[in-house]
Amino acid sequence: MPNATIRIHGTADDSIVDGPGIRFALFTQGCKHQCPGCHNPTAQPFDGGSVTTTDALWQRVENNPLLKGITLTGGEPFEQAEPLIELAKRARDKGLDVWAYSGYLFDQLLEGLPSTAARDLLEYCDVLVDGPYVQELRSYTLKWRGSSNQRIIDVPASLAAGKVVEWQ
Ligand code: SF4
Repeated sequence: MPNATIRIHGTADDSIVDGPGIRFALFTQGCKHQCPGCHNPTAQPFDGGSVTTTDALWQRVENNPLLKGITLTGGEPFEQAEPLIELAKRARDKGLDVWAYSGYLFDQLLEGLPSTAARDLLEYCDVLVDGPYVQELRSYTLKWRGSSNQRIIDVPASLAAGKVVEWQ
């Protein structure tokens, strides 16, 4: 598979808070959404963070036999959809599930925002947690999401149904 460069904010190699099971969470760098109360403001500038490669990141996934899946978060992962497609493909081939977080809505990604590659990346996701973080709708009792407007979406079921199907 092609190696690609990607700008990242950081990783959590054994995360238990970014989806079910033990996950490799990748925090991409760069986000335009500017949600008030953003939980990760230093991940917003597109020239911040550091540059690495999909091969280097994948090596760390492969070296961890405990992983249930990978989580693409940020920042806004769908701004760097092309390299993330490479990682998501590899994860799927290895039997790992793929969760992604986005400040865009499912329908926006489906329509090709912020790029046609973002639409393609959606096809490699098992679950999408969508929508911006809304400070007024924040609750610590919510699982896997920061504010109650965000939906936990079963992507393959939603694509098949032509409408949003929430993940159970
Ligand atoms: S989408 Fe996430 S990273 Fe981007 S501004 Fe909103 S809370 Fe911050």
